[in-house]
Amino acid sequence: MRTTPLALLLFASCATSAPEHSVETPLGVAYADDPEQAGRLAELWTPMARSIERMLPASKEGERLDVWLMRAEDIPDPFDIGHPMGGITYSVNGDAWLIQVPNSHKLEWILAHELTHAILGPKWETLGGALEEGLCEYVAAQHAPGLLPVRRLQVYMGAAALFGYDEAGIFFSQCRRDDAGNIEVRWIGEKGRVPKSLWTIEDLRFYLEQRSIAPFPEQRAGLQRIGTFLVFLIAERGGLESLLRLCERATEEGRDDVPFAWAMEAAGFELGSGAPGALEEQLVRSIVAPLSRGALFELVIEDGSALGRYIALEYAEHFKEFDGEHFVKFSNGTLRSIEGVNLPIFDLSQDLRDATRAHWPVREHTAPIIEVPRAFRR
Ligand SMILES: [Zn+2]
Repeated sequence: MRTTPLALLLFASCATSAPEHSVETPLGVAYADDPEQAGRLAELWTPMARSIERMLPASKEGERLDVWLMRAEDIPDPFDIGHPMGGITYSVNGDAWLIQVPNSHKLEWILAHELTHAILGPKWETLGGALEEGLCEYVAAQHAPGLLPVRRLQVYMGAAALFGYDEAGIFFSQCRRDDAGNIEVRWIGEKGRVPKSLWTIEDLRFYLEQRSIAPFPEQRAGLQRIGTFLVFLIAERGGLESLLRLCERATEEGRDDVPFAWAMEAAGFELGSGAPGALEEQLVRSIVAPLSRGALFELVIEDGSALGRYIALEYAEHFKEFDGEHFVKFSNGTLRSIEGVNLPIFDLSQDLRDATRAHWPVREHTAPIIEVPRAFRR
């Protein structure tokens, strides 16, 4: 996410807590809690910024960028909106940027996303906040392709939920027996969140034509998901140049933002003279199709390793009694489709099982592995 209006204020309030160690780079300063991490951040960041400048048409050069590598939970959340992406970029005086990124398995993705905000040139000015988020996600995907299958899934789940389709998700159950012999079951996972009132095409039109997503904290995750969904479609059809052309045309015509209709057409939707509701039907159909049982089955089979890696790195914290050494599978990992069908993912793919085990941390003090009673097995 990029913020501008509160930038100076926020910069002042964050500046006191910069991580202790720093490394100068040609682009700015890399900060981290220890010198080795600061060095690694600098090595990752400099070539990445150059690569983004090359792939992103009309990017700026010579911006001053400072990057803080932080524990995810220490990154301030200035708008109290949660960090679906986990990073944030503050504008400082217009040509300098402070970027805060979490030290996690998503670092490369998030760093590329935030750098993209910082080096978007003025020709992108009319893009609109939701599509800008999508553009940053598109660039991030090129720099951390291992996360792409999961990020795509999250995008579809988040976008589908805006229109009321929130069945699809990724879930795990955790069963434990307490001292009295009682069984406790806890569900952990993720899926799209349904907004208080479901979106219509008119809502989508309104939000897509807003300069920034910052004023809409409640809708922020949804806006990022739908913006990403559309930008991937646009870029797959005509490259990032076609997205830039929409921005340039909007500027030429004196518009503040790329109109909704242009973005939808560039993404391949037919606006034409269809019946009321026809556009919404087209859109929703294309958002939910990748969440069908068959599509999820394919995802598990084709991208099992990427999914397994994500599962291990994202969820291990929540399953402390499982360890990498003894790990076979933890209970009931499922992907649920939009039709409500559960796919038992660990049973479907050896790659997924192997990748999860390979990336699952080995813990020194592992609680005894509890045999889950029959009744709680699939
Ligand atoms: Zn962003």
